[in-house]
Amino acid sequence: MKYRLGALPLSAAAPLVALLGLLMASLPLAGAGTELILIGLTAAGQLAWHLRHLMLSRLVTWPTLAWLAIALLSYQLPEAWVSQADWNRWEGRLMAGSHIDDWRPPLLMLLCLGLLNLSLLTRTRANLGAPLLMGTAGLALLAQLLAPHPTDGPLALSPDGPLLAAQACLLLAQLVDILGGWRTSRNSILRALWPSLLLATLTMGLWYHQHRDADRQQQQAIAELGQRLGQRLSDEIDDHLAAMRRFAASWRWQDAPPSADQWAYQAELYHQDFPYLLNIAFIDPRSRILHVHPANAYNTPLLGTRLFEAQPDGREALGKALHDGTIGQTRVIALLQGQPGMVHYLPVIQARDARILGAVGVVVGLRSMADTLFRQVAPDTAALTLLDGERLLAHQGTARRPGPWRHASPLTLDDLSLTLITRPGHDALLARRPRLPVVTLAAGLTLAYLLYLALFARRYMQLQHRQARRSNRELRREVRNRTRLQQEVEWLATHDELTRLPNRRRFLQVLAEHDRVRPLSVLLCDIDHFKLVNDRLGHLVGDRYLAELGRLGHAVLDAAGGVFARLGGEEFVACLPGSSAEDAEAVARRLQAALAESRLTHQDGAPVTLSVGVATLDEGPLVADELLQAADDALYRAKSLGRDRIERATSPADLPVGGP
Ligand code: GH3
Ligand code: MG
Ligand code: MG
Repeated sequence: MKYRLGALPLSAAAPLVALLGLLMASLPLAGAGTELILIGLTAAGQLAWHLRHLMLSRLVTWPTLAWLAIALLSYQLPEAWVSQADWNRWEGRLMAGSHIDDWRPPLLMLLCLGLLNLSLLTRTRANLGAPLLMGTAGLALLAQLLAPHPTDGPLALSPDGPLLAAQACLLLAQLVDILGGWRTSRNSILRALWPSLLLATLTMGLWYHQHRDADRQQQQAIAELGQRLGQRLSDEIDDHLAAMRRFAASWRWQDAPPSADQWAYQAELYHQDFPYLLNIAFIDPRSRILHVHPANAYNTPLLGTRLFEAQPDGREALGKALHDGTIGQTRVIALLQGQPGMVHYLPVIQARDARILGAVGVVVGLRSMADTLFRQVAPDTAALTLLDGERLLAHQGTARRPGPWRHASPLTLDDLSLTLITRPGHDALLARRPRLPVVTLAAGLTLAYLLYLALFARRYMQLQHRQARRSNRELRREVRNRTRLQQEVEWLATHDELTRLPNRRRFLQVLAEHDRVRPLSVLLCDIDHFKLVNDRLGHLVGDRYLAELGRLGHAVLDAAGGVFARLGGEEFVACLPGSSAEDAEAVARRLQAALAESRLTHQDGAPVTLSVGVATLDEGPLVADELLQAADDALYRAKSLGRDRIERATSPADLPVGGP
């Protein structure tokens, strides 16, 4: 398969295009140094592989993979094992002031590049899972396209557009370069690929679900923190108001306003509990400040003055306390102490005659109060801001890397409406982020990879088994054929095809097998005038007659315990172990009778007859040739005496040597 773009193969062009695209994209992406380097390294590895510099390709790919593996670990390891701060400290050693996020690509991009590099190392080998690695890299790329905006949460998932396009180029280049290598085992690959790719897709779905769940949990935690702090702020104001009411009530048994010492002593007790009460003053019915605590550069000059002259916003509230005998409270005003705050005025009413002795003025510094409260939250974990409408009342901030989420909790303090904004820092969010989703992702994808390997190996073994079974079957068939052929050859070597009787060779073997049996008789039979049958009735009829005589002879000899064989032409021979000459002659007669009954005739209707020579060895050693010769001589005599008769080898000349 050739993928050519002019003279340049597309597979080589794609990493080049990716590199070129990167160069063009690198201007607006100046902040994406890590991503650019990783894409560059992957492209270089691909190019080296494409040009068959395999060693160079591996030299580039392994370190890239190691980098990506460490980055993946940084996403996965629990905070208790290696904390976010530890990672940052180590990164800081590589480059002063750098942050872990400066060294690791967004999660899905890490996944895509990692899989591309892994598949580059496995090359085209389907049995090492290259197709699944490529397929999952494609899934990771797709997920980056579908994922929400890169800065949607503390954990970046995907980079900006140009880097996505560069990844797509790398994926395409690699795919084109190795697709051809998978053609031969396409079926096996597809069978293993679909289930494992399905598992990988499900894993990514589950991961994304858990990821969003983690987002929701963290957002909820921020909201809870904001609400808790807001509640604390409200409670704090309620508490100090209640305390101040008690404080004001504690003077009602006095006949006259408290002395300066009494005031300083009592007010200090309350000031210790509520340090943000900037000023606890006793105001006489003519609105003059009689005592003030704590005595400091802000407060002391106020002694003897009419408070509302210095703080006109408080006039109405003070009027409530001094004239109506009720608690008066200002809105949030700019305090003399240089911060926003409120002033509460609580009347001191004499118990005996309900005379208003004066009022307790309490100045609450909101910034001081918020600072006291904010101190409960470590300043580098979250930025806290207290607002009165648009006006900033107090702020405590994270030094660097604010997180992406903020939560505004409205606070209602009497008739005041404030807003508390909670914004956790990026690092604090990362540190508290559950690791389960990324662990799920890594474990699920590993499982999908193992599934692919198992399915592919199973399919591969199935094919091999099938192949082996087929060869086995063919081999067995071949062996059967050869055995049959051999048996046929062996049978033909010892038998006569026409009559299916043992031939001369087999007959001599049978004779030899009975060489110790005495008496041992042989019959030599010759059809009379057989030439005439051939000449007049044709060879086919001659053959049929020969076959028929074979069948008759076999039946007769078998019944007599002997063996009937064809010696050649129309001559047959029989061996009768244990038969005397008389018995053998009787058998010959039965044979003649059987032939007569068979109605084999000449053309003129005369029956076909048989001449038989009988030779019997009663004692002495067996010499087969001599015994047969004796039978042949007897047969010759039968022929010459008129045929259709049986002659025994009786004369000394007929009998074999050693005979009687
Ligand atoms: P005799 O009574 O003297 O034995 O006369 P004959 O004609 O039987 O004797 P001969 O030996 O002259 O002839 C034998 C014939 O048998 C010659 C040959 O054509 C025939 N023959 C030999 N083998 C076969 C065979 O396999 N099939 C057929 N059809 N004929 C055969
Ligand atoms: Mg003959
Ligand atoms: Mg003959």
